[in-house]
Amino acid sequence: MDETIKRNVMNIDINLLQKKFGKNLITNENLSKYSWFNLGGPADIFFRPENKLQISEFLRQLKGLKYDLYILGAGSNTLIRDSGVKGIVIKLSSKFSQIKLLDKDKIEAGAATFDRKVADFAKEHSLSGMEFLSCIPGSIGGAVAMNCGCYGSDISQILHSVKVLDTNGEEKIITKNEIQFHYRGNNLPKNYIILSVILKGLLSSKEAIEKKQTELIRKKNESQPSKIKTGGSTFKNSNGKKAWALIKESGCDSFSVGDAKISEKHCNFFINNGKAKASDIEKLINKVKEEVKLKTGINLELEIKIIGNEK
Ligand SMILES: Cc1cc2nc3c(=O)[nH]c(=O)nc-3n(C[C@H](O)[C@H](O)[C@H](O)COP(=O)(O)OP(=O)(O)OC[C@H]3O[C@@H](n4cnc5c(N)ncnc54)[C@H](O)[C@@H]3O)c2cc1C
Repeated sequence: MDETIKRNVMNIDINLLQKKFGKNLITNENLSKYSWFNLGGPADIFFRPENKLQISEFLRQLKGLKYDLYILGAGSNTLIRDSGVKGIVIKLSSKFSQIKLLDKDKIEAGAATFDRKVADFAKEHSLSGMEFLSCIPGSIGGAVAMNCGCYGSDISQILHSVKVLDTNGEEKIITKNEIQFHYRGNNLPKNYIILSVILKGLLSSKEAIEKKQTELIRKKNESQPSKIKTGGSTFKNSNGKKAWALIKESGCDSFSVGDAKISEKHCNFFINNGKAKASDIEKLINKVKEEVKLKTGINLELEIKIIGNEK
């Protein structure tokens, strides 16, 4: 990166930040490796904090400055544009992946813990209700942010509370009752950084949990593609209508733009088939959205998040 730019991105003193945070702060970091689509340009500032104090200190250094901030989890629901993020991306390091049993029916997990690890941990401790997490490839922080779910379960049903940092770096514990969840989202302020979550399960037998988990994974593998570069469901279901059904009945399931394709197994999954650019995926999204609107009158809403600058 050009030195003058490097020192002055958004008036942030990057040299000072680099001195403070060393290897945890990278400039011009290519983001494609942090996204399931395997796409996206660089972030001006990429911060991988190892603990809460580092985040608070980082936010304190930025106080009073204007900047765009994006929090990335496992990147399984995010399309990052080719021009990257002219701003800051925070991705919690693996130090936020600790998991422990709190009481006999509660689990505390760092926000970067993979959902599958939470499901397995719950099973080991005979806690049911979290089996569905074994079907979701994200982090538990992303799970709360997205109110992720499948097969009749979602995170709001098992959440007890979340620990967050607000934009001033102040820690807050927010109980489930204080959060309004809706389909694939919640009303927490956008820039809150989820640090950890407490989940509550029901005591059950390990065998019953294992059976349910295996059954859900089987169902998932049968109906959705795996081992592909995708962001999962592209659009939200709309007023009880499945997005995939709307796409199919509008005749869009064979659409493509360059190497941006639609999965043959599940037409709400859009794929980077190898050489797609993020812009190809976005063009495909817009093409499908327009056609579905034209054919059905329904305005499909995005489930995946698109981040970054258009140019
Ligand atoms: C193959 C595949 C299958 C999928 N199946 C399902 C499914 O069955 N059901 C389902 O609901 N989803 C599914 N998804 C989508 C995705 O896995 C979920 O939405 C998941 O919860 C996203 O988590 P993430 O950590 O990857 O989030 P990211 O994609 O990194 O981010 C998503 C959102 O969460 C926010 N976020 C992430 N971490 C934090 C944090 N610590 N603090 C604050 N905000 C945060 C981000 O800012 C962003 O707004 C699937 C995706 C793929 C690729």
